[in-house]
Amino acid sequence: MSLEQQLNELTGRMYGKTIGNCTNVQLYQCVLQLTKILLSNRPVNTGKKKVYYISMEFLIGKLLSNNLINLGIYEELEEILKKNHKELSQIEEAEPEPSLGNGGLGRLAACFLDSMATLGLPGDGIGLNYHYGLFRQVFRDRLQRAEKNEWMEEYSWLTDTGVVFEVEFGDKKVTSVLYDIDVSGYGNGRNKLHLFDLSTVDESLVNEGICFDKGAIEKNLTLFLYPDDSDEAGNLLRIYQEYFMCSNGAQLILRELKSKGCDLYHMDEWAVIQINDTHPTLVIPELIRILTWEEGFTMEDAINVVSRTCAYTNHTILAEALEKWPLSYLEKVVPQLVPIIRELDARVVQRYEDPRVRIIDQKGLVHMAHIAIHYGFSVNGVAEIHTEILKNSELNSFYRIYPEKFNNKTNGITFRRWLLSCNRELAELLTATIGDGYRKNALELEKLIKKADDALVLDALEDVKRRNKAALAAFIQEKEGVALDTDAIFDIQIKRLHEYKRQQMNALYIIHKYLEIKAGKKPVRPIAFIFGAKAAPAYVIAQDIIHLLLVLAEIVNHDPEVSTYMKVVMVENYNVSYAEKLIPACDVSEQISLASKEASGTGNMKFMLNGAVTLGTRDGANVEIRQLVGDENIYMFGKDSDTVIVHYTKGDYVPRDYYERSPVIRAAVDFLVSEKALTVGHEENLKRLHRELLHKDWFMTLLDLEEYIQVKDKVFADYEDRLKWKKMMLVNIAKAGFFSSDRTVGEYERDIWKLT
Ligand SMILES: *Cc1c(COP(=O)(O)O)cnc(C)c1O
Repeated sequence: MSLEQQLNELTGRMYGKTIGNCTNVQLYQCVLQLTKILLSNRPVNTGKKKVYYISMEFLIGKLLSNNLINLGIYEELEEILKKNHKELSQIEEAEPEPSLGNGGLGRLAACFLDSMATLGLPGDGIGLNYHYGLFRQVFRDRLQRAEKNEWMEEYSWLTDTGVVFEVEFGDKKVTSVLYDIDVSGYGNGRNKLHLFDLSTVDESLVNEGICFDKGAIEKNLTLFLYPDDSDEAGNLLRIYQEYFMCSNGAQLILRELKSKGCDLYHMDEWAVIQINDTHPTLVIPELIRILTWEEGFTMEDAINVVSRTCAYTNHTILAEALEKWPLSYLEKVVPQLVPIIRELDARVVQRYEDPRVRIIDQKGLVHMAHIAIHYGFSVNGVAEIHTEILKNSELNSFYRIYPEKFNNKTNGITFRRWLLSCNRELAELLTATIGDGYRKNALELEKLIKKADDALVLDALEDVKRRNKAALAAFIQEKEGVALDTDAIFDIQIKRLHEYKRQQMNALYIIHKYLEIKAGKKPVRPIAFIFGAKAAPAYVIAQDIIHLLLVLAEIVNHDPEVSTYMKVVMVENYNVSYAEKLIPACDVSEQISLASKEASGTGNMKFMLNGAVTLGTRDGANVEIRQLVGDENIYMFGKDSDTVIVHYTKGDYVPRDYYERSPVIRAAVDFLVSEKALTVGHEENLKRLHRELLHKDWFMTLLDLEEYIQVKDKVFADYEDRLKWKKMMLVNIAKAGFFSSDRTVGEYERDIWKLT
């Protein structure tokens, strides 16, 4: 049966209609069903050894377009629909976005699933099926409000497997249900994303926004993604969630291994468990528990085989994000694991004198990362500079004990989603220019370098960018009600709102520009400053920064003296789908974290691949971007990580000194509490932020502000040298191949997993 016949058959069966008579929503549901059927016919990646990528977050985004591309039927389906007067791009809009992650960490897990499937590696994801995932952001009165994000519909990518496991907590026993999502590889291959849920979850528990009874575990366990690592409330619920995932994951893995005939004493020859950040660490004591209680292992044997099976990825050096649970919490939620954790700690104490490597510290806090490092065989950071900081400072006491465990795996992104799917025009231009080999082997993008002086190619790149900007401008006009000039420079900062990422520094630049224009210094070309960011609901200063951005948007966009020269947009509910629209339209990619704080970043890679030029600090993967493109194709500024780390150790950073020394800084900072700002915004939020910047500024905004202003002005001036700029775009695209997650996953396979 042809694809068209199959689709027609489905529309007839599901709605009694032809393709042409269906609504877009109905067509979405039919195409979804069709895609699921085609996917299920794909061969599953197999082999003796399998990797289980266990993660509390899989920020998969919409799946339709990606699956169609991976199945190789996107164009054919688009044609069929067109023939019936339907637009595939509009049908894609009907798909709800599952937001099963917060940001970079969860998106990385999703990119890795795509690459594992594509490379033919047997590798499944293990996670949770949050009913509402991360909250949906709405702005009211220039403040963020959190609403629940409904994504599970009657027709969805989830398949109920019928598999159930029992999970026992200290005070209750629950039964899980397992849903699977098929993960397609590009051109071939298929794996599974296993998402565990609870049949007793009660969605009616949610009242205002995302508020619910945190105590009713049987009813709330998988309702929401824990909104952020910095939120203190709901710690217990978080531990319930973590253990629920880990216990289900451990049971699933052992069941699969047994069914394959594996002798569990040699489990490490059949399985590797990649622990994505500390959140899934309980899988280690849980496996040890099952092996000793149910499989007759001695403690010694269980610890040894589990330690040879588990590997840990570190994602951050922010102290507040490295999980430390009070022993009393664990006693309540998972008392059965406490004796095992004590035993793991006792073995550490016996072997090592250094109190910093203990699992349970003097305060009775259990350091999850320490479990994963002692009782796993690999510890990796996610960019070169990040891994070096782990080895030399953050985890130095562990590096001294286990130098052989430490390794770097610089993050990557799947080019299927972040180029082929989100920027089809650019992908087609690349194919026309260098052939389509880059689609399978991203390093072939380098062929583009030969075209660096080819005016036709450079102009075509510029044309694609302009059309993407026009498309984004239309979308932003519709969604946010702000009109953007397509000729403006699109300067974009999209990522979670966090002080270390320094959206506030960008805001201070905008204030500076605004004041300049008011004083008569007009930019030669308009600039559109675009932001997208969610803030953890409990993170007060982050809420204040969002408020400031919304206040600035109001002031700037409604000032006739200014708004022809600049616009400020804070898009509502930034998520994967929005990212796919913003990134292809970007000229300047803002990657301005305080050096040493952004482990890698992956947004920076997406932008580069889509022909944006990076304005960034020497942090995370920015450093490697610079190594690849060279100094002349990137704008770097700011104090380096060594300097920043010294400031932290000495405690000698005083924001007030910078404020007092620089009239430019003073004017920008004081604008927050100016008459103008206070008439538009809330005194409480603006004054608090002003105070924070002046008296604390933990992430050293003012340290780099002056240099940021200078370099950013240079970026905008250079934009006028169109030839130079177009060449920079081309070099960035050409050198982006290194950041394919196929490369990253290939390195995990070569150095850690060793599946083949
Ligand atoms: C890629 C991505 C991120 C990570 O962005 P960074 O700039 O690396 O922090 C966060 N959220 C979404 C939706 C993404 O697609």
